[in-house]
Amino acid sequence: MRTPDPVLSPADLDRWSFRGTALAVLGQPIAHSLSPAMHNAALAELARTEPRFASWRYFRFEVAPAALPAALERLHARGFFGLNLTVPHKVIAWPHVTPAPGLEAIGAVNTLVRREEPGGWAGHNTDGYGLATALPEDVGVELAGAPVILLGAGGAARGAAVECLRRGCAALWIGNRTRARLDELLALLRPLAAAVPLHGFAPGAPPAGLPAGALVINATSLGLRAGDPAPLDLARLPRPAAVYDLIYNPAETPLLRQAAALGLPHAHGLSMLVHQGAKALEIWTGVPAARTAPVMRRAAQAARP
Ligand code: NAP
Repeated sequence: MRTPDPVLSPADLDRWSFRGTALAVLGQPIAHSLSPAMHNAALAELARTEPRFASWRYFRFEVAPAALPAALERLHARGFFGLNLTVPHKVIAWPHVTPAPGLEAIGAVNTLVRREEPGGWAGHNTDGYGLATALPEDVGVELAGAPVILLGAGGAARGAAVECLRRGCAALWIGNRTRARLDELLALLRPLAAAVPLHGFAPGAPPAGLPAGALVINATSLGLRAGDPAPLDLARLPRPAAVYDLIYNPAETPLLRQAAALGLPHAHGLSMLVHQGAKALEIWTGVPAARTAPVMRRAAQAARP
């Protein structure tokens, strides 16, 4: 068995000797990321039948926000073929990449592909695909036709909101602590929403009129730290259909505990992580995401704390 992937820094690029096809995830912190385990397991599996993948390897780099633009340039100069971006880089990277068409409303990228001419990186976002694929598997709900109550207005919530609207949700209610950030997101989404009812609210005071049978999605970071409260009291809503938390570590957040106590279908975000990763690998390799998702899931489950 290979030793766990070390945490690298941009300084390690000074004496870079890897000659294969290099991929990497950049974040801060990055030591906890399950992506290297998922991607290297999928590449090893692919290499069993397709020898070209034997020379592919996925690394991890700890990169501070201010160091991201220089790191992107240096990784390009060192020949890296693909990158994943995680917290806090998905939005910061936006002005430094060439986004794929249709990403403007999200303004965030999590998957970059090397461009030779005129250089730099093409930006994609696979988080929405990951969410939309995980929901029917984990809680038996499709975004199409579902009323959705989404919590958060950060990078992950933006991607989730756009995916809900693109997939034809029945209505979208977004709750966020900071009103200004919520209003900014609502303004961005309005052209996309067209006839779909779109509303904002304060999670501390859920308004009358929230739909019954909604899919509740937590895209805030509340629940990551021990002692965090739930982002919303589910008992104050008309009974939801299901609850999905993007957080996967810890596996049980206060929101999911309450969902369990209320007898609601619920799930944490590991499947979303797996599917967004499999889609990123598809973008780099051309191998369909559905083929690598099972091995990535097994690797993520084995590597999680
Ligand atoms: P972000 O851009 O930093 O946004 C954080 C969000 O959480 C904002 O809406 C923020 O509200 C809210 N928030 C933070 N602290 C809060 C508090 N004390 N009380 C109330 N609201 C609070 O982060 P992000 O990139 O969107 O990520 C959000 C979460 O999604 C993270 O836990 C991340 O790990 C998870 N995620 C999971 C996956 C997956 O594949 N499963 C993918 C992407 C992200 P304000 O606007 O009021 O600050």
